[in-house]
Amino acid sequence: MIGFIGLGNMGFPMAHRLAAAGRELVVYDTRSEAVDRATEFGAHRAASPREVADRAEIVLASLPSLQASETVAAEVVGGAEVRLFIDLSTVGSDVAQRNHTTLGAKGIAALDAPVSGGVGGAAAGTLAVMVSGPRHAFETAKPLLDELGRPIFVDELPGAAQTMKLINNLMAATTLAATAEVVVMGIKAGLDPKVMLEVLNAGSGATHASRDKFPKAVLPRTFDYGFATGLMVKDVRLYLDQARALGLPMQLADAVAGMWESTLRDEGAESDFTSIVKVLEKAAGVTVSGG
Ligand code: NAD
Repeated sequence: MIGFIGLGNMGFPMAHRLAAAGRELVVYDTRSEAVDRATEFGAHRAASPREVADRAEIVLASLPSLQASETVAAEVVGGAEVRLFIDLSTVGSDVAQRNHTTLGAKGIAALDAPVSGGVGGAAAGTLAVMVSGPRHAFETAKPLLDELGRPIFVDELPGAAQTMKLINNLMAATTLAATAEVVVMGIKAGLDPKVMLEVLNAGSGATHASRDKFPKAVLPRTFDYGFATGLMVKDVRLYLDQARALGLPMQLADAVAGMWESTLRDEGAESDFTSIVKVLEKAAGVTVSGG
């Protein structure tokens, strides 16, 4: 039996993939409606993270905050069956290290395994899965992680995969912010947004934002790409904390972080992260559309 805790934008399609591949799942989420939906694809319902860990030898989690990850790990550690805990959430290396210590004290192996590739990648099984922790635990987890995407072993050092994930997300945060800024500038100067994206995508200015996020969620003005602004800000702050602790200059990251903090203030934590465009539109008095 495989356990899965946290059935949100990412966790639900990942759990669904595992069930579709023939895995027997026991699941928990604080939102009972998410658990109800998972029972529709055959998952068993658990009443708590502890119950998941009492019934499953391998437990995966996809959680929205540092606190949720630590709370869940502290419950999972008491489980009767669990031998391996795989945290797919982005929580930064400090929390990952604490979770490794908490679980390791009871002989439970831990892997931090944050993912990249969005809701689309979760549904299609094409996520990049960055993994750190004991190599033998990675070998145990690999067949499961293969069903979610491409597992890449980063290091045995607990938290190393979290560092890698924060680096990846700072890049994603920067390119989305930069693409939003240049497209708004172009519209203000009289250019057509669709033509601008066509040119960027054919040239050296292409980014994941210009190729995927803008065509899917900005031009049609649906703002529903599937990643909340609050989660993006969490990741940018975690990156800044770690870079600051390393004593590094962060001129670019500070500027990018400022744009994300404005988006959080103006659009709210629950807004989709593509809403960063709206903040720039307001300042420029233009609208990016053309879906
Ligand atoms: P989400 O908010 O959609 O889902 C989180 C789920 O966890 C929700 O269903 C919530 O009810 C549940 N939950 C919260 N606290 C809980 C607890 N204590 N016990 C059990 N369940 C609990 O978030 P998401 O977008 O699915 O992101 C999950 C993680 O994956 C985050 O760390 C995020 O940074 C990361 N991530 C997200 C994306 C994306 O595109 N959405 C991409 C890569 C990584």
